[in-house]
Amino acid sequence: MSTTEVDDALRRAAAVIAAAPEVALACHVNPDGDALGSMLALHLALRAAGRRSVASFPEPFVVADHYRDLAGLDTLTEPAAFPEAPAVMVTFDAGSIDRLGGLAAAAGRATELIVVDHHVSNTRFGTINVIDPTAAASGVVVRRLLAALDLPLDRDVAIDLYAALICDTGRFQYESTTPEVFDLARELAAFDLPIPSLSRTLFEEHRFAYLGMLGEAVARMVLEADRGLVWTAVTQDMLARHGCTLDEAEGLIDIVRRTREAEVACVLKETDDGRVTVSLRSVGRVDVCAIATARGGGGHRFAAGFTSEADLDGTIALIRAAL
Ligand code: AMP
Ligand code: MN
Ligand code: MN
Repeated sequence: MSTTEVDDALRRAAAVIAAAPEVALACHVNPDGDALGSMLALHLALRAAGRRSVASFPEPFVVADHYRDLAGLDTLTEPAAFPEAPAVMVTFDAGSIDRLGGLAAAAGRATELIVVDHHVSNTRFGTINVIDPTAAASGVVVRRLLAALDLPLDRDVAIDLYAALICDTGRFQYESTTPEVFDLARELAAFDLPIPSLSRTLFEEHRFAYLGMLGEAVARMVLEADRGLVWTAVTQDMLARHGCTLDEAEGLIDIVRRTREAEVACVLKETDDGRVTVSLRSVGRVDVCAIATARGGGGHRFAAGFTSEADLDGTIALIRAAL
């Protein structure tokens, strides 16, 4: 998508949202800081302007504890109460319709489906696709959408956009950290943001029990130097022994990827329904999005994921083969 195509889609999306009596917003399953932050930013800005907006995400309808300082979590609607056939629906940070889980049916029935995203692997499943793979976060696209809608920022909107921005740039460290990212950060910081407390809850603070499990997961890391691969797994047994939940282990990949000898880092997580979710990171030439997309997932060149029906051994074998 060229810049003019994105701008054109942005204008059409703004016109549809501006004319709608109510909009229904949804972000991807197991939402991260960008999914929640980008969706809540538009939701709160619309509501502050007296507009009707419903925001949700698919089951399991649980927000991971480290997102508790985002603004507007108390205004979320549970997915069972989401409109069945919305006139105007907007999705956030979802690269394909199946990432909407139980809300995919509503998306399929929506009259206008506006897809706001930045995944290079996006399948363009909307009637209006506002997809900018050069944007560091879906929140960056939302900032531009707010401008097109003439909706002002306030402190709560700024908190949510800032969370989206720092989560998807790894606190201004990843490839995606462009001058535009700092321009937006500067604009948001002017709203008296609680930067230290947001950093601590989003990235640093963990329960003591989780840090014990982290120790075990790190001790079990496997380096396959000939393939340039480092990986570890979080099993249901480990979670039970340490009294932890899978969503607490979201940042584990950022420890594993520190390995100097590896170009690709991988964390396998065994879910309670016997499947395995895979997080992949690249620090070099390998395009992990291609690996994830070939397995029905998606993401970005340097950060991607998929869900595997194979067991842990079978899943790591798939990844070895792909490398
Ligand atoms: P994660 O490793 O879960 O932080 O995800 C890294 C990137 O891959 C994010 O941009 C996700 O949107 C994407 N991703 C992760 N899991 C999946 C999946 N099952 N299907 C599609 N994209 C995914
Ligand atoms: Mn996301
Ligand atoms: Mn994102």
